[in-house]
Amino acid sequence: MNRRDLLKLTAFSGAAALAAAAPARAELGRRFARLDVSPSRVIRTVAGLRPYRPEGFVVRAERLSRRKTLVHNYGHGGAGVTMSWGSAALAVRALDEAANERRIAVLGCGVIGLTTALMLARRGKQVTIYAADLPPHTTSNIAAAVWGPATLFNPARVDDAFVERFIWAARYSQRAFQHFVNDPAYGVRWIRQYRFSHRTPEREPEAAVYGDDLFPGLVRHRDPTSWFGYAAVEAHYSLMIDPDIYLRALMRDFEGAGGRIASRRFDSLADVERLDERVVVNCLGLGARALFGDEEMIPVRGQMTFLMAQPEIDYGYVTSENGHLLYMFPRRGAIALGGSNEYGNWSLEPDWEDMHRMMIGHAAVAARIAGG
Ligand SMILES: Cc1cc2nc3c(=O)[nH]c(=O)nc-3n(C[C@H](O)[C@H](O)[C@H](O)COP(=O)(O)OP(=O)(O)OC[C@H]3O[C@@H](n4cnc5c(N)ncnc54)[C@H](O)[C@@H]3O)c2cc1C
Repeated sequence: MNRRDLLKLTAFSGAAALAAAAPARAELGRRFARLDVSPSRVIRTVAGLRPYRPEGFVVRAERLSRRKTLVHNYGHGGAGVTMSWGSAALAVRALDEAANERRIAVLGCGVIGLTTALMLARRGKQVTIYAADLPPHTTSNIAAAVWGPATLFNPARVDDAFVERFIWAARYSQRAFQHFVNDPAYGVRWIRQYRFSHRTPEREPEAAVYGDDLFPGLVRHRDPTSWFGYAAVEAHYSLMIDPDIYLRALMRDFEGAGGRIASRRFDSLADVERLDERVVVNCLGLGARALFGDEEMIPVRGQMTFLMAQPEIDYGYVTSENGHLLYMFPRRGAIALGGSNEYGNWSLEPDWEDMHRMMIGHAAVAARIAGG
């Protein structure tokens, strides 16, 4: 997509947002089922590390040695699920340009490795995934995982070429996820998502650079008396991906397409060099930092508490209480509560104080929006 297309797209998105005044009125009567944030409903609390690069995710090919070609596909921060199909498509293109080999090794079995491997297997390649941890024990299983490019790069650190690739990949990916919605075996669905803000923004937000049309039904409310005292509310539909269901389905599809999955840990480049395959795709997420020496990448720690499922919760939200982030998204098997972004924190231990803060914050939101 070139800049002119982009301008057309954002102009279209702005017009679409204005045309949304009617749904805004219709939504006023909506009832929010009451979220039950009782401690007795907690089923687990876990921390995960988002593989964040201020300069954005890396997709490129290089020579690892005389014998081997390496294709990178890593560093997707808080948006690895979101970007997975688009980024895999970029990686497959880079691979096609760099090498013509049938046998491919994909390192990593999170959402990036699985998607890339599946795409390659469907193109007739003979693909083996090698990974230390398999689903459900990957960061990808911890993801919230709502479709949206968040905590992905620092806009001050990327160039135009990156932004164009990012937009292309985001749009490709969102389109790819739409096709899973009708099949419950993938755990992908649309939900209404709300951003509740205590303050009115100084300026009306501009259309997202990748196009507001990726979030259908976008409306902005500025009516605290109808919206539980929130000064500004943004509502739209988002694709929700249930990672436990979705990753299992990807593994099935990959094996069904002839792919193999092997459990293996790589401690040095020599371990990679010993693989039989002459083309290796690096989808190691945060693991790429140590193995390939990318010091730009840092963890952004996020903690999630899961509650017993409440099938009547048909919405998600992002908000803040006392200046701290909070978000809630329903999965088929659980309610996911989150709200932390800790740059540079490597700890995978649950922080019980932070869990307490989130539980109290979410209980306050529940009381506010569902009147209890
Ligand atoms: C709290 C939280 C909330 C999030 N919410 C969202 C969201 O709403 N939407 C969204 O799109 N994204 C979200 N994310 C981000 C998303 O989880 C990541 O971007 C994504 O999981 C990255 O996928 P990946 O496949 O690159 O890495 P991973 O899932 O970490 O997979 C890496 C793979 O590489 C393997 N590996 C690593 N090092 C080695 C090694 N040395 N040897 C062998 N194998 C190795 C691992 O075992 C694993 O199989 C969230 C993340 C967190 C923590």
